[in-house]
Amino acid sequence: MLIVQKYGGSSLATADRVRHVAGLIARDRAEGERLVVVVSAMGDTTDDLLALAAQITPDPDPRELDLLLATGEHMSGTLLAMALHALGVSAISLTGAQAGIRTDTRHGRARIANVDPARLVRELDAGRVVIVAGFQGATGEGFLESDVTTLGRGGSDTTAVALAARLGADRCEILTDVEGIYTADPRVVPEARLLPVIGYEEMLELAQQGAQVMQTRAVELGWVNGVVIAVRSTFSDHPGTRIREDLLVEQRNKVRGLATDRHVAKVTLVGVPDRPGVARAVFAPLADAGINVDMIVQNVGHAGTTDLSFTIPSVDLARAGRLLEAVRRELDAAAVTTDSRVAKVSIVGAGIQNAPGYAARMFGTLADAGINIEMISTSEIRITCIIAEADLETAAQALHRAFALERPETVGLEPLAGGAEAAAG
Ligand code: ADP
Ligand code: ASP
Ligand code: MG
Repeated sequence: MLIVQKYGGSSLATADRVRHVAGLIARDRAEGERLVVVVSAMGDTTDDLLALAAQITPDPDPRELDLLLATGEHMSGTLLAMALHALGVSAISLTGAQAGIRTDTRHGRARIANVDPARLVRELDAGRVVIVAGFQGATGEGFLESDVTTLGRGGSDTTAVALAARLGADRCEILTDVEGIYTADPRVVPEARLLPVIGYEEMLELAQQGAQVMQTRAVELGWVNGVVIAVRSTFSDHPGTRIREDLLVEQRNKVRGLATDRHVAKVTLVGVPDRPGVARAVFAPLADAGINVDMIVQNVGHAGTTDLSFTIPSVDLARAGRLLEAVRRELDAAAVTTDSRVAKVSIVGAGIQNAPGYAARMFGTLADAGINIEMISTSEIRITCIIAEADLETAAQALHRAFALERPETVGLEPLAGGAEAAAG
């Protein structure tokens, strides 16, 4: 049996934890498993490296930054290999490039183009546990001409799923610091409930809306390739959550979970001329710079001008600010204002599309909690509100209660039916 496992940063944060993980691997290995182990950087290493680069320059060269960030995963990989050697387990650590991970050239957010598993398979056949540095790959085919790339924050999840798909692994396991996927981030909503199963579509939406437990791209890859992903804890034997096709989805509680995201910022262009071409003038430079614009609201125009508000990831705020100042001058707009003290809360569930009243219940719950909604957006299976960051925990906890997410679902029954709140929805 071939297993691909991924250990996250907090699971490897100290030398003791690295040795703990080595012990877990040695145990699986004793049962005869063929193991590929993907590692993240130790603890906050990636953040520390980013901060270090920022002390050198506000605008580091993307190629050099990727080569720097990749070292975080090299560090944990080599240490884990040494810990396994100390236990008498044959193991080798490989960089992403050595593991055959080829990507496009978009530094900082590269996508995997292809995995050449030749070296991996050779090492497995030689009886070694193969440790792969997550979150990275390399461009091109030849080694001498290639450059190291990284896959975006949380990218080790994607490394693991890509390897599981390419190798046709029997199991793909994401080992982390929580027991699996919950109905909400358990750090934000203490009553959050562990889900034994979640469908790809709902997981993808939660990940996109900020549930950092799985990288969005990893869920996509799992879905496309039919890889069942087990998410479980490094620190317990609990079976955790399976991310897979969920055929019962229509029968479950229509709201499956909620996602919160503090890392968003709101930008407003005040007094832009109300004429064709303005939206392009604003958003094209952001797109060219690889900045993802999320919610967009254009206010009703007055006297030939209008206000345009939108959200972006807060890490991109400084860069966006510089670009938008040029846009403001070009359009002769009155001002660019930014607010990084906003947050996003979303309810997600495959049944939302067929059930009217969910939006009303969401807005009513926030209103009852005295929380102002600054922006709203929806997809077929999601409703999202932008609110003040200071209100995020209150909002998430109130919504979790309003949609009875703590209640175990009885498949086949509609858990909200007959409840006192049902009339409100
Ligand atoms: P790792 O270092 O193992 O990759 P991450 O920090 O990237 O771990 O992801 C795990 C964290 O994701 C948890 O500690 C938890 O706070 C957060 N999280 C957010 N939403 C959820 C959710 N719905 N279920 C579980 N964890 C969640
Ligand atoms: N170390 C990288 C990060 O912090 C990748 C990962 O943890 O998956 O984003
Ligand atoms: Mg992660």
